[in-house]
Amino acid sequence: MPSQPQTVLQVALPVPLPRLFDYLPPAGHQASEQDVGRRLRVPFGQRELVGIVEGCAPAQVEATGLREALGWLEPEPLLHGELRASARWLARYTHAPVGEVLATALPATLRRGEPLPDTHEWAWQLTEAGASALAGMRQGRPRRLAELLHGTIRDETALDTLLDGWRAAARSRAERGLAERIALPASQLAPDPQPGPTPNPEQAEAIETIHASAAGFVPLLLDGVTGSGKTEVYLHAIADCLARGRQALVLVPEIGLTPQLLGRFRARLGVPVHASHSGLADSERARVWAAAWRGEARVIVGTRSAVFTPLPEAGLIVIDEEHDGSYKQQDGFRYHARDFALVRAKALGVPIVLGSATPSLETLHNARSGRYVHMRLRQRAGSGRPPPVRVLDIRKRPLEAGLSAELLASVDRALAAGGQVLVFRNRRGYAPVLMCHDCGWSAACPRCSSPEQSRAMTVHAHGRRLQCHHCGHRRPAPLACPDCGGLGLQPQGIGTERLEELLLARYPDHPVLRIDRGSTRRRDALEKLFAELGERAGVLVGTQMLAKGHDLAGLTLVTVVGIDEGLFSADFRASEKLAQLLIQVAGRAGRAERAGEVVLQTHHPDHPLLETLIHGGYHAFADTELAQREAAGFPPFAHLAMLRAESRHAEPPMAFLHAARRALAAWQDQAGAGPAGPAVEINGPMPAPMARRAGQYRAQLLLSAPQRAPLHAALRALVPELHALPEARKVRWSLDVDPIDLY
Ligand code: ADP
Ligand code: ZN
Ligand code: ZN
Repeated sequence: MPSQPQTVLQVALPVPLPRLFDYLPPAGHQASEQDVGRRLRVPFGQRELVGIVEGCAPAQVEATGLREALGWLEPEPLLHGELRASARWLARYTHAPVGEVLATALPATLRRGEPLPDTHEWAWQLTEAGASALAGMRQGRPRRLAELLHGTIRDETALDTLLDGWRAAARSRAERGLAERIALPASQLAPDPQPGPTPNPEQAEAIETIHASAAGFVPLLLDGVTGSGKTEVYLHAIADCLARGRQALVLVPEIGLTPQLLGRFRARLGVPVHASHSGLADSERARVWAAAWRGEARVIVGTRSAVFTPLPEAGLIVIDEEHDGSYKQQDGFRYHARDFALVRAKALGVPIVLGSATPSLETLHNARSGRYVHMRLRQRAGSGRPPPVRVLDIRKRPLEAGLSAELLASVDRALAAGGQVLVFRNRRGYAPVLMCHDCGWSAACPRCSSPEQSRAMTVHAHGRRLQCHHCGHRRPAPLACPDCGGLGLQPQGIGTERLEELLLARYPDHPVLRIDRGSTRRRDALEKLFAELGERAGVLVGTQMLAKGHDLAGLTLVTVVGIDEGLFSADFRASEKLAQLLIQVAGRAGRAERAGEVVLQTHHPDHPLLETLIHGGYHAFADTELAQREAAGFPPFAHLAMLRAESRHAEPPMAFLHAARRALAAWQDQAGAGPAGPAVEINGPMPAPMARRAGQYRAQLLLSAPQRAPLHAALRALVPELHALPEARKVRWSLDVDPIDLY
């Protein structure tokens, strides 16, 4: 009996296999091209998965054994148009399974199969009874709420910022019929925009350049020193985009998305600003995505994963601090949000502004070679002045908890003058090492160290606890040396906790606040700490968390201690990262009326990086570094891909990577290498710089090519083979195209 002519759905599923899966349409349905991009539920082994239709094809005879999909999740495609096309491009570019990439493009709740959420904003108003009751109310929260709602409808986000604990008050009012909750479409909530400062000539020129680029895809670099008013330029460009009736997407680094920044956007733009970041509940992020999908959200400000926001009416994309490492997804499917945003901007035909005081060398190279429009803001806006940098040579100087007497004297002076001081040390914890003074034993992480390589555990809690910063392993610090039994255990070196201890003892009359991942686990903790400090003279001790984000007007002195380890790192991007960090940290000083100063203490005052950076600035550094990258054949003059593998045993990762190397070499031989030698250079396999982490042995194979095309041709051939290698079953492996570091 001939089988029924039927259509088969090709479905992308969130599984780590580089293929699509065929299903018959749900019972009673016919499938067509119209279904591409729709979500549906399918059986997969014993499980049920949510997939996305990638295509459909006429059924072959052997299709009779196919399973039937269980049902559609909504009537229309959820992933369609540009976003779907761009996500598919990203799957090809990263060589990741398309199902995993498409799943990443969806917010978590939609990935799990929940419906596209309702996007009404909830707001509150007083009922007539509530308005007349106001006059007779006692002081207190219910009255304050009633006053806020008197004659105005306020949305819940606004109430959150206006009155702590308003929800309970609102609920009790509502129960008595005095207030009511109403649903508004998001786009109706428009506070009146407040005017900003008049742009200075450099800002005005940048605003005009972006305005003139509105008609199509134009990548623009806004290269402006810290405090030069880049955010003001974004605000004008966004307002212009809104005036054209289009949506704007703004990406900021994880740490840059502060209430301060959102407040500034909300006050100035006169439309609701939707925020999307990892601190929000999944349901909230899904609401933002859905509001953008429906075209209701006009301005979306978000961190890395917001790059997947649907933009049916796109007009502008902005990437703030484009050099920031948090734009690169470092596990699972590894993508770079900035680079993907450029691809989307091109597909959408809209301008994209990359802003930074310290542009990445890739971006700078693109700007200098004319691929990006290069806009410069050379001066600080408003009243801020760039702070002078003083280098303290501390060779042979006595140090107190790592701080020199001269540095402490500048802190004394700054506090006496009523200023705020930042002490920057990029090392959290009490001390980097716990060592036995009697026998030389030091505490190593059992899960990260191997016979060949030892990894110190960091001392925390004033010496009471040990913690590994690579795998998170913790244990109490031993009281006596496990090797010799001696009592001579001593913390070696300085972390932020130890600096805090010293500064608290030295400045008992001033607030001393520590800011690092240990002290600010919760998202609002940082804001609370800043609020606690207020305008008082005081000291902030902290890690790179302090290098961006919150704008501290009272900061007059920035001191940088213990960056010397960073000067000698082997990673090819280490210098770039250190230079960016130093410029960004220094740029925190003197952002308002008060003049600022930067003091940097080092054992290597003549180090070329410091010399160039301090005397020539970031661009001089970038010139030198780009020349070195070119000579050494590193990005942006070469294209890299890193294949990583790990396992609980030492051999399987190397065995897998050797097999990968053989497969690639065989392919290259067959494909024919040019007269200049093989198009793709293979380095390794070798153990990773951190050869064991969290109990896993790690190894890597680095591929590099002067051009992108041959690298990707090789990867296209290699990746399907990798999935099929028998050695692959004994390891966890991942491919990182354009790795940002070689760890
Ligand atoms: P960036 O984003 O480059 O760090 P901001 O846009 O945050 O700079 O501006 C730094 C400070 O200067 C802010 O306090 C801002 O209000 C102020 N500012 C920006 N542009 C102007 C201007 N044209 N006139 C006066 N003040 C300005
Ligand atoms: Zn000992
Ligand atoms: Zn560890």
